[in-house]
Amino acid sequence: MSRHIPQTIFNIALDVPLNRTFDYLSGSFTARVGNRVVVPFAGRHLVGVVVGLSETSEYPIEKLKSVSHVFDDAAIGNVVFDSRMFKLLKFCADYYHYPLGQALISALPLRLRQIKPAVSRKQFSYQLLANADLTQIPARKALMQRIIAALQAKSSLTEAELALISSGWRKAILELKNLGLVSAQEVVAVKASLPTSSIEPQLNDEQNQAIESVLALTHQFKPWLLYGITGSGKTEVYIQILQKILSDKNAQVLVLVPEINLTPQLEARFRSRLSQYPLVTLHSNLNESERLQNWLAASTGAAKIVIGTRLGVFTPMPHLKLIVMDEEHDSSYKQQDGMRYHARDVAMVRAKQQNIPIVLGSATPSLETWFNATSGHNTQKQQYGLLSLTQRAVENAALPNIFCIDTAKSPTENGLSPLLVNAMRECLSRREQSLLFINRRGYAPVLHCNACQWVAPCMRCSARMVVHLSQKRLKCHHCGHEQKIPIQCPSCGNADLHPTGQATQRLEQTLRSLFPAARIARVDRDSMRNKDALNDLLSKVHDQEIDILVGTQMLAKGHDFPHLTLVGVVDTDSALYSPDFRASERLFAQLMQVSGRAGRAEKAGEVLIQTAFPQHALFQALRSQDYVSFANELLQERSVMQFPPTSYFALLRAEANDFSQVQQFLSQAGNLARTLLTNQLKHEVMIYDPVRPQMERLKGLERGQLLLQANSRAALQRLLKVWVPQLHELPIAAKIRWSLDIDPLEF
Ligand code: ADP
Ligand code: ZN
Ligand code: ZN
Repeated sequence: MSRHIPQTIFNIALDVPLNRTFDYLSGSFTARVGNRVVVPFAGRHLVGVVVGLSETSEYPIEKLKSVSHVFDDAAIGNVVFDSRMFKLLKFCADYYHYPLGQALISALPLRLRQIKPAVSRKQFSYQLLANADLTQIPARKALMQRIIAALQAKSSLTEAELALISSGWRKAILELKNLGLVSAQEVVAVKASLPTSSIEPQLNDEQNQAIESVLALTHQFKPWLLYGITGSGKTEVYIQILQKILSDKNAQVLVLVPEINLTPQLEARFRSRLSQYPLVTLHSNLNESERLQNWLAASTGAAKIVIGTRLGVFTPMPHLKLIVMDEEHDSSYKQQDGMRYHARDVAMVRAKQQNIPIVLGSATPSLETWFNATSGHNTQKQQYGLLSLTQRAVENAALPNIFCIDTAKSPTENGLSPLLVNAMRECLSRREQSLLFINRRGYAPVLHCNACQWVAPCMRCSARMVVHLSQKRLKCHHCGHEQKIPIQCPSCGNADLHPTGQATQRLEQTLRSLFPAARIARVDRDSMRNKDALNDLLSKVHDQEIDILVGTQMLAKGHDFPHLTLVGVVDTDSALYSPDFRASERLFAQLMQVSGRAGRAEKAGEVLIQTAFPQHALFQALRSQDYVSFANELLQERSVMQFPPTSYFALLRAEANDFSQVQQFLSQAGNLARTLLTNQLKHEVMIYDPVRPQMERLKGLERGQLLLQANSRAALQRLLKVWVPQLHELPIAAKIRWSLDIDPLEF
């Protein structure tokens, strides 16, 4: 039904879980597509974005409400989405089968999703002036006195630091300014930089070749894989490509990184080498006002370089000319809730839509990317260009030697084999640094009763509680549930309960007793809670104030440790025989990455891996540092098994208090899908039976999942397009929690 009406109708996207947009009357307002508005919705007021204007509505006009407000967003050119960003998010909403309104609104900085005006205030820091006459401050002005004392103790205070002194700091600082005692300086978001060299090295042939290849095709869509071992100079290649591209006055470049807080060195290098170009970062460690400020700088074109984590892929950049994605294999590029997008895939679509090149860099590319870069028969898609860096860039920097320690022959004591302990001792005596890698935080993974074999379970998950001895607590790393360590076994009353197995805190303790004189630091999410802790620690490592590092994968990321010559790997065997078909791909990448920490400068490095399976193919490939054959072998396996990247998955997950409801939903969903298979689709899509995931229960909910597998994205999408709307209509769907994961990484 369509009627002619005198007013304009705004078609508005709202952050509600319904797969449609909403019509409102313009009232006295005018707006353009991309404007932010406020509308009444179900008794509340919501911020929305205008996605269309029309004169007609499918809904009865007398039932339409009017918008209550149209924001004046002059500072951002009035639209929060330009047509390109809209197109990209529309693609994502369709591809990931996620409500368009939620996709659009959740891509905005929080401040733009709120009803109050999103003023982007500049941030200042304050300093005491050199010749300030402090006697001018009246004695009764206690707050002003306190601020002065704080400024004397620390040469400069940020607004956040002042706010800690008193909520009334603004007024006091204004008076101090008026008295001519303090000065204000605008804060440009620059982090403390670690020592980096700003010298431009003489590139080697492979680097030159890579840069020339990319620069030869800059005005068209072209994906590149920059495959280069750790330390081969990939970052140098990015930097020099950026220098060229940014020399065009208008150009902007987007650099995506897995976790920026883990790689402060990378940001520092970009800042020092490309200092003439305004650079902003977008990541979860920013406060909302910084985030808005940086987002605006990108969307107005003022920032030429944006370094961001996965959400950064949705930053509007009107003059975007290149996307770089570092460590493209990293699983943190995949969003695990809400719209479950993969930033690499979104970046690829964005580059294609904007007709620009995209460079994916990695020492251990994801099999998806490796497949795209090496399979010649893959003709429907744009073939990726493969750029290889096979040598370490720094002269004389050899690759580390990787060895396995067979724990059957050299049994471990407290998690460490004598061979590894000896190597660490020698390393210490040479005054070099070593790193112990174990991917488990806490003290011990299990609390065990020797009498009855009871192990402490989480009440809410199918998981064991991890022992955190220093706090005398058991913690579930899946749901966050905590409790005191019981003094006796709840099952048999035995008072002799043992923490069993190794984790970071326990290894740290063992190392302290083995090497009492060594300076030891532990790096995991517990010890690095403070925002600056990692940065401070990295500086200490650089200044050789640390001898031994023990930690999780937080240590594996691209840090450059010139004095580190030994890496020990403890206890990764469980991943070798994991039911997750991606486990070995992930483990290989992780071990290559952590191995790459050893011997970066003129000192050769050694990597010792403790394992009960030294003959495993993964370790053989690792020892010869042969990613290529390992990847090709895995690809072969995947192809035989019909697993990604040679097929495409969608996973329907469901959870509820009561498993029978989960079961009911998933089997109805599966049956429904089967009825929707056309004769054609029957050959292209496979619908499995519902199963329980490895973690059967999580946070108190029973879980189940249903897998769809297809031989092309197109076939999968054809089915999903009719299936998903009907899933929403199933009565049982409203009673449980469910979600759809396209191209899932975890099962
Ligand atoms: P990657 O990103 O591949 O790990 P980097 O770009 O960080 O490698 O390079 C590793 C080290 O080698 C850095 O200290 C970098 O400054 C240096 N480097 C890079 N290219 C060259 C080169 N051509 N000659 C000398 N040193 C180089
Ligand atoms: Zn017991
Ligand atoms: Zn739990």
